[in-house]
Amino acid sequence: MLDAGFTGRGERMVNSQALLSVRDLRKWHELKRGLFGRVDYVKAVDGVSFDLKRGEAVSIVGESGSGKTTLGKTILRLYKPTSGVILFDGIDVTNLKSRELREYRRNVGFVQQDPFGALAPFMTVRQILEEPLIINKIKKRERIKRIRSSLEEVRLTPVEDFINKYPHMLSGGQQQRLVIARAIILNPKLIIADEPVSMLDASVRIEILTLLRELQRRHNLSVIYITHDLSTTRYFSEWIYIMYAGKIVEKAETGEVLSKPFHPYTRALLNATPDPDPKNRFVMRDVPPGEPPSLANPPKGCRFHPRCIYMKKGLCDKKEPPEVEVERNHLVGCWLYA
Ligand code: SF4
Repeated sequence: MLDAGFTGRGERMVNSQALLSVRDLRKWHELKRGLFGRVDYVKAVDGVSFDLKRGEAVSIVGESGSGKTTLGKTILRLYKPTSGVILFDGIDVTNLKSRELREYRRNVGFVQQDPFGALAPFMTVRQILEEPLIINKIKKRERIKRIRSSLEEVRLTPVEDFINKYPHMLSGGQQQRLVIARAIILNPKLIIADEPVSMLDASVRIEILTLLRELQRRHNLSVIYITHDLSTTRYFSEWIYIMYAGKIVEKAETGEVLSKPFHPYTRALLNATPDPDPKNRFVMRDVPPGEPPSLANPPKGCRFHPRCIYMKKGLCDKKEPPEVEVERNHLVGCWLYA
């Protein structure tokens, strides 16, 4: 795959093996309240740090309202970070503006949750795929080549059968393939896929995840897969990060998290995953009561404490737990292990 290149003038960092490094990233949305315009904040992302190597995929998993979509959009720089640092390919992209920001975004493809909403209904497949190429001043001959090859990559073939269709003439799975074709057409290094299969029929979900996995391996892409469904991560990623109320509470390799979850919230998420084995249909599983907290007023101490059956009064409700390495490369933020 051709390299889209990156010529941003941000600070160049040395010795970074990771394609993406996120350090203590915060995104607080302003929320005006009351007659006197007192400003409060929705702390959607509140101190997130991680590294992602080239060619690796990470799943960011959490319930609705955990901040995972905001994290993806902040990394993509659709939102300006409140604080923290985002390093991409050794360059600080946290505060890039205009032209340099556009160049950064060429390197990061985005796959949205709702494929139909993500596609302009009045544009044909050709126009949808050609638009980012025109914006990035790719010559006509090269544009035609890239449109054809990206449609072949996502298996919307024969190309002639799709090229002049409008989005409403495609099935949900085909629309999502088109969104993926648009995400890869500028030859990015990183793909951020935000719940890419949650609006699709069960029968096409695995197809789309398998397609993303194939593209990742073929082009050595790094991928951030954002999902609420832990069961789909086994098809996809090397790493799982569990997010709750704006923070990452557990990080480990995929097999580790699925077979040996440590954090009570991760265990609850696994318990909430439907078990297809009919023998277990009457087995009652522990699922925590209540809803995720409001991010405008998150609980003190551990944010999971109002729902946690292991909560230690005077500790969990007062002090935020530190992140500890419970096993090699397996990090957990919980007082049970600190
Ligand atoms: Fe539960 Fe306390 Fe651990 Fe939070 S820190 S998950 S409340 S045991």
